[in-house]
Amino acid sequence: MLKRVLIANRGEIALRIIRACRELDIETVAVWSEADESSLAAQLATRSLCIGPARAADSYLNQDAILSAALATHCDAIHPGYGFLSENPDFADRCIQSGLKYIGPSGDVIRKLGSKSAARTLAQNAGVPVVPGSDGAVKNVRQAKALAQQVGYPVLLKASAGGGGRGMRQASGPEDLERAFQEARAEAVACFGDGELYLEKLVLSPRHIEFQIMADQHGHVVHLGERDCSIQRRRQKLVEESPSKALTPALREEMGRAARTAAQAAGYVGAGTVEFVLSPDGQFYFIEMNTRIQVEHPVTELVTGVDLVKEQLRVASGLPLSFTQDALKVSGHAIECRINAEDPERDFLPCPGTTTFLHLPGGPGVRVDTALYTGYEVPPYYDSLAAKVLVHAPTRLEAIRRMRRALEELIIEGYPTNASLAHLIMHDPEFVRGQYDTSFLDKNLDRLLELARTCDRLMDEEETP
Ligand code: ADP
Ligand code: ADP
Ligand code: MG
Repeated sequence: MLKRVLIANRGEIALRIIRACRELDIETVAVWSEADESSLAAQLATRSLCIGPARAADSYLNQDAILSAALATHCDAIHPGYGFLSENPDFADRCIQSGLKYIGPSGDVIRKLGSKSAARTLAQNAGVPVVPGSDGAVKNVRQAKALAQQVGYPVLLKASAGGGGRGMRQASGPEDLERAFQEARAEAVACFGDGELYLEKLVLSPRHIEFQIMADQHGHVVHLGERDCSIQRRRQKLVEESPSKALTPALREEMGRAARTAAQAAGYVGAGTVEFVLSPDGQFYFIEMNTRIQVEHPVTELVTGVDLVKEQLRVASGLPLSFTQDALKVSGHAIECRINAEDPERDFLPCPGTTTFLHLPGGPGVRVDTALYTGYEVPPYYDSLAAKVLVHAPTRLEAIRRMRRALEELIIEGYPTNASLAHLIMHDPEFVRGQYDTSFLDKNLDRLLELARTCDRLMDEEETP
């Protein structure tokens, strides 16, 4: 087993990794930026040290500083978490070259899957269905127009290097295409320093269904079922659940097999996620593979009982997976709500601030992954995720009731969050019936916000004598 792991990340995921390590008797080294000196990760790790100023480019993306810290503290491995360097193949290579284990797939595998257009080709060659679209990159507007004509509008122009819902624009017809192309390219250059685009037909009213993959160094590749992540804002997930109401056992089997095939074709090792869109007619299409632990991984942990982060540590140590595909059972239903420091009333504007009061929900079937504490200042430099509230219950409806109750217990004061919006989603008839797709929030946001305003007003009136 590994002896000492450096965690090249921050926030709740750094804490999550520390917890797994402690239970396995692995020491941890937390590295922090000047903005994170008072973080829980810095306090709870075996050792902690500063790697630079607040700006991510100077700290959590500073490969030299992180590698020196790992060597100076005699670590034997680095866990990259999600975001930051977690999908950077050069960083994975440099860890290995420095004599450290990288907790994730090899640089070559990350490279193969990191370009989303290359991953598409890889999946297609392995016989996994992909969305109709371009073979590799599209070079210019003219080529994009010709392709769009072939596959039919609406289409989506997507950044090969994309992530976090960025670098994507849709075009409803030829008159729209040039604008979509230029905007997607500009955002791709700005966010990822790489303007390469590819084209996909826009699947209408799809579900986002993803499969959790775990693979070891001994050739075992298993999937741990799906997560339905169709409640999104700006193509970013807000609510995730497992199992998905949209899958029949036969479809689950077929998609699970496709996910394993894609992972096997890439020579995958470690935890990863194969993402699909599922159209209302039951056709599914590969969209990308994320080569890291995912934000919403606890949803799968709750229904399978597998600790995915411990499993990552086992795999990196060279041990085989602790379970087989056949032994794996999904039990009950799990839901996650991502609670962000943001204002849904102002187009989800990030609103960092000081946590003046915090009360977290608890009780049967509730799990909260967060790095918040009362007095903690959410720094403005990083993403706005404040807490992940999860529930597990025997049935989907019991899980929904449990989530309503958990969100009613949650108190975060000091800045706006999307917690009331999440609570309202748990009461929405479409959500309760499980009949929703990725357009749910765009379609219902104004109505839900109006409802929230009315409730707030009524409560204010009642409270004012
Ligand atoms: P997941 O697929 O794991 O749910 P997300 O796409 O929501 O992941 O985010 C994955 C990682 O990308 C997170 O670590 C997050 O910090 C980062 N990320 C999220 N949003 C953005 C963004 N707008 N720009 C850049 N990175 C982002
Ligand atoms: P990212 O790398 O930013 O996570 P993805 O390719 O995973 O980007 O797409 C993000 C979201 O955009 C998906 O969850 C889905 O809602 C939507 N999306 C992506 N591709 C398509 C498509 N071809 N048709 C319809 N929706 C899509
Ligand atoms: Mg994605």
